[in-house]
Amino acid sequence: MNIVNVGYDSTNYYVLADTRPRLLLDVGWPGTLPKLQHACKRMGINLAEIPYLLATHYHPDHGGLAQEVKGLGIKLLVIDIQIPFIPTLATYMKPENHYVPVEMGNNVTLTLAESRKFLETLGIKGEIISTPGHSDDSVSLVLDEGAAFTGDLTHPMMADEVSKASWGAVRAIGAKLIYPGHGPVW
Ligand SMILES: [Zn+2]
Repeated sequence: MNIVNVGYDSTNYYVLADTRPRLLLDVGWPGTLPKLQHACKRMGINLAEIPYLLATHYHPDHGGLAQEVKGLGIKLLVIDIQIPFIPTLATYMKPENHYVPVEMGNNVTLTLAESRKFLETLGIKGEIISTPGHSDDSVSLVLDEGAAFTGDLTHPMMADEVSKASWGAVRAIGAKLIYPGHGPVW
């Protein structure tokens, strides 16, 4: 699986792709769709060709653009434990952000237990696990090949007990390389 960073504004957004793009992980603030399109184009990816978006958690720099991206035909993958947190996105926004609220009726909702099977239909071998700490709705995608997309899960050096337990879960399913929401891969 190719991992392509299409980030901007000091946040990493990743596209998983093989012969075509399969999954977009996280998107930025409302109104930044042109930046995302530009970043994708620069990396040789047609944003509108990506079938699914997963937000690691519903903070503005990870899910703020979700509804606008859905407008391109990209489906939002929601993990059931994230559902109550999606409306809280609006609380971070000021009127000048022109936030477009995430519509809840037309998403693809999965449980964590269903994630592996679903990802397999995209040609992705891995699973999505709950990794609270930075926020209660935080999830991580861990590929069987060892890449882990951990969103804003607090770095282990600064982690509290909850985050430490989440890192334990990430390691337990075989993560070797961490692709964080901010900063370089480690
Ligand atoms: Zn965050």
